[in-house]
Amino acid sequence: MATGYVFDEIFTRHDFPGHPESANRLAAIMDYLGKNGFLPRLTHIPSRPVTRLELMRCHHPRHIERVEEVSRNGGGMLDADTYTNSFSYEAAVRAAGGLVDLTTAVLDGRLDNGFALVRPPGHHATPIRAMGFCLFSTVAVAARAARFDYGLERVAIIDFDVHHGNGTQDVLIEDPSVLFVSSHEYPYYPGTGAADEIGEGKAKGATVNIPLPMGVSDEGLKRLYGELVFPILRRFQPELILISAGFDAHWDDPLANIGLSLSGYHWLCQSLIDLASELCQGKIVFTLEGGYNLDVLALGVGNVFRGLLGDPLAHDPFGPSPWREPDISALLARLKIIHNIT
Ligand SMILES: [Zn+2]
Repeated sequence: MATGYVFDEIFTRHDFPGHPESANRLAAIMDYLGKNGFLPRLTHIPSRPVTRLELMRCHHPRHIERVEEVSRNGGGMLDADTYTNSFSYEAAVRAAGGLVDLTTAVLDGRLDNGFALVRPPGHHATPIRAMGFCLFSTVAVAARAARFDYGLERVAIIDFDVHHGNGTQDVLIEDPSVLFVSSHEYPYYPGTGAADEIGEGKAKGATVNIPLPMGVSDEGLKRLYGELVFPILRRFQPELILISAGFDAHWDDPLANIGLSLSGYHWLCQSLIDLASELCQGKIVFTLEGGYNLDVLALGVGNVFRGLLGDPLAHDPFGPSPWREPDISALLARLKIIHNIT
């Protein structure tokens, strides 16, 4: 297996002391991958600034110009949660360009699969604004590149970050060529992602929102993905699967209240890797979104690389969630009706 990764020092220069979305996150991941012998087994894909044309497929030019101007003038807050410093614009455009290049390397067959270890994250950034620690919609930019530059007709994005991928949804809401699936705590930040948000116009049904009640853990998530998401993916027949990988749905994450374990995460990631093999010659590319317990984050990313490389073992020193899970049967039944899965 040839597995690629994107990393650049610039992604650690976008930083703000005391903020949960800090450069320490990526430092913890790179430290873990280095100490556990992953890096010599992986192909490094350099970052590059995404072009204005690539970015404008997802964002209004005024939003792009505002992020660039604030960052180039030394930085500042773009909303209550979303900081920039003088490196942030360069980091954000290189995050998006790096993911595009990793994705095209997979589409070209130069790599089997990969993981973009990039910051800032992207899935909350809408066509017109930065929010929720995100500046540009990195994963949507990669989906559009696959669509427009490679002529793909069907791309799937799975977002298992604990927060709703509202930015990705906003960019792609009328695009029937991209299936967007988000599972997230609900109601929770940013407030969107209800079950009846299913896409608009010709794209009705191409958005799948799975609003998780507080406390849902491995068993609930396995049923929701196994009985709903995987059948939808098989029906859609993607030519590429992109993953917005957030590790803040872990039970010990400080920012949210979903109870996945690292073993649950590994089951989910391994299942998606297996589905990519079944549906699209293994073409799957992960990109980093959230995850704020640094040990969980590093282990979770390490386990994804184990899956991508074909290593059998996952590591879960944290064990399962200590909470009792709520029953998700009614939610699952409702989602099956909405998305016509029998
Ligand atoms: Zn998140």
